[in-house]
Amino acid sequence: MALTGRTALITGSTSGIGLGIADVLAQAGANVVLNGFGDTQAAVKHLERHGGRVGFHGADLADPRQIGELVAYTEREFGALDILVNNAGIQHVAKVEQFAPERWDAVIALNLSAVFHATRLALPGMQARNWGRVINIASVHGSVGSVGKVAYVAAKHGVIGLTKVVALENARSGVTCNAICPGWVLTPLVQQQIDARVAAGEPAEQAARALLAEKQPSEAFVTPQQLGELALFLCGTGAEQVRGAAWNVDGGWLAQ
Ligand code: NAD
Repeated sequence: MALTGRTALITGSTSGIGLGIADVLAQAGANVVLNGFGDTQAAVKHLERHGGRVGFHGADLADPRQIGELVAYTEREFGALDILVNNAGIQHVAKVEQFAPERWDAVIALNLSAVFHATRLALPGMQARNWGRVINIASVHGSVGSVGKVAYVAAKHGVIGLTKVVALENARSGVTCNAICPGWVLTPLVQQQIDARVAAGEPAEQAARALLAEKQPSEAFVTPQQLGELALFLCGTGAEQVRGAAWNVDGGWLAQ
């Protein structure tokens, strides 16, 4: 299988997009290290069915020291960290003048600074082996804004910039860095936003459809499986010269 013998660390992989990407990479033969909060047993059991090794580390990525422990755990227990998927992220919605500074700090810490810390710690091993893949899960909000999402949009624009610099600094090596930029994916992060619309008076049966219709021309959610398949492609030989890309998977959101 394509990724037999490789080890992938996927941050924030106990649910949603991260779990979907971990599933596809594990199916392709990779050993996977999961990270995140919540019910980890179910996620680990699910992935072990694919036959590779599955590890878990519950580092809180808002804390750079714990990111160091997560990377060290992966390299110690699995011998190498070959594929880093920086996926963990949170959202907070409020207008700029009402945006609590501590929420700004929390979103930037996880959605941007954790990407920097995990990448800087994973790169030396990848460079020494002359093979590595850094895949950053950014967003359409890395290229365009939406009202109420100042910290998220700032962080995701930052992730795309970081992706370009890492790609350039490693351009003559076997280490690539790219960003995947999803539109709406129906995960707990987006369900919260649908719930908020219902709480504000929108009929429940219309809320998800209205959320999609505002931005995503296909009016269909992107799936974690589709994002996993793109991540798998970025790990392959066909993507050796894909460097510093920000690849939209957004049902046409950014084509408008
Ligand atoms: P999710 O809420 O389903 O999952 C987030 C994951 O991050 C969970 O495993 C959670 O336990 C983990 N996590 C949260 N805080 C953490 C912390 N401090 N330390 C470690 N792990 C932590 O979210 P999702 O929708 O799957 O989002 C995953 C990524 O995809 C995020 O970066 C998000 O910005 C991005 N994204 C999502 C969408 C979407 O529509 N859902 C669209 C574009 C981009």
